[in-house]
Amino acid sequence: MAKKEQSVGLRKLLEDQLADSYYAEKQLLKALPKMAKTATNDELREAFTSHLEETKEQVSRLEQVFQLMDMPAKGKTCPAIDGILEEGKEIMEEFADDAALDAGLVSAGQKAEHYEISCYGCMVAWAEQLGLEEVADLLKETLEEEKGADEKLSAIGETVNVAAEGEGEEEEEEEMEAVGASNGRSTASRSSGSKAKQAPKKSTR
Ligand code: FE
Ligand code: FE
Ligand code: FE
Ligand code: ZN
Repeated sequence: MAKKEQSVGLRKLLEDQLADSYYAEKQLLKALPKMAKTATNDELREAFTSHLEETKEQVSRLEQVFQLMDMPAKGKTCPAIDGILEEGKEIMEEFADDAALDAGLVSAGQKAEHYEISCYGCMVAWAEQLGLEEVADLLKETLEEEKGADEKLSAIGETVNVAAEGEGEEEEEEEMEAVGASNGRSTASRSSGSKAKQAPKKSTR
C-alpha cells in the first residue's frame, strides 16, 4: 500500500545517495593530496593529509554498506562535488601566489565537508527509518569524521585568515628571504612601495 511504496522510495533514495557519495569520496581521494600539497600552513597540510587517510576508510566503509545492502559497489557521478572541487581548483590557481591561498583552501575544504555532512546526515536518517541499523552505524562513523574535519578547518581558518592579511608572520618573512634568495619570481618585484609584507610565501613543494 501507500506506506510500502514510501519505504521503497526511501530505500531507492538511500541507494542513489550511496552511489553518489561513493563517487564523491573517490573524487576527494584525488583532490585532497593536491590540496595538501598546495597548502602552505603546516596545520592545514596536516588536516588535509589526515582527512585523506580518513577518506580511504570512508570508501571502504561504503563498500561494507554496499555489501550489507546487496548492492554493487558502484559510484554515480555527483555533479555537486565536481562543482565544489572545480571551484577549489580555481582558488588554487587564482591565489597560487597570494597570502590568502590557505584561507581559500580552508573554504574549499569546508564546502566539500558541508556537502558530505548533508549527504551522510540524510543517509543515516534514512537507514534508521528503514531499520538498517548496521548501515546506519557505519554511516554515522563517517558523518562524525566529516564533522570533525569541518571543525578542524574552522579552527585553522582563524589562523590563516590572519596570515592572509600578512600580519606578524615570522615564518612568512623567513620564507620570503628564502624565496628571494633562490628564485626571483617575476611578479614579486611588482609590489612597490609598502615594505613588501605580502611577498609570495609559497615555495615550490
Ligand atoms: Fe568523506
Ligand atoms: Fe551528490
Ligand atoms: Fe559556489
Ligand atoms: Zn570529508
